[in-house]
Amino acid sequence: MPEEKGLLIVYTGPGKGKTTCALGTAFRAVGQGLRVLMVQFIKGSWHYGELDAAKMLGDDKFEIRPMGRGFVKIGAAETDPEDIKLAQECWQAGRDAIYGGKYDLVVLDEINYTISYKMLDADEVVEALKNRPERVHVICTGRNAHPKLVELADLVTEMREVKHPYTKGILAQRGIDY
Ligand code: ATP
Ligand code: MG
Repeated sequence: MPEEKGLLIVYTGPGKGKTTCALGTAFRAVGQGLRVLMVQFIKGSWHYGELDAAKMLGDDKFEIRPMGRGFVKIGAAETDPEDIKLAQECWQAGRDAIYGGKYDLVVLDEINYTISYKMLDADEVVEALKNRPERVHVICTGRNAHPKLVELADLVTEMREVKHPYTKGILAQRGIDY
């Protein structure tokens, strides 16, 4: 048996495939008997297919917790305090899960986004991830991964957009995009 070591994985970049790559890994992990939690920093309003698919596998095997409200106001002079509060609560839930002993893989979906918009402190997150229990795998998704997170990570993949249907005016498709 190879040695077990919890990996810190980052899926970032502008191309499509970050969250779905984390979901694919979660699917594989569940098959190996790992217990998985995904906390979602931004999502909350749309109903994504993965919520029902995870329920089919069983909440004790793969739980997804949407903890955002589906969008974040950007471009405003300052970030809405409500979004900061939600991001903090989501981070707390993710950190508790990483340290709690119940989960083998914790996915922090769109955490990179909340760090890049300063809703979360990069140093605090990086420190907590660095000191986590050794066997726990963590996946961080979202565009613009913070350089300190990239430095700490064991595996970083950047999705590069080669083509996306959106540029041809084709909107999000059920089962592919949500
Ligand atoms: P997915 O959840 O499909 O793996 P993602 O996590 O890589 O996508 P996000 O940045 O989280 O992408 O964007 C969320 C939504 O925006 C998804 O519905 C996705 O299909 C869509 N999207 C992703 N990349 C692009 C792009 N380059 N142009 C337009 N829409 C995109
Ligand atoms: Mg995503």
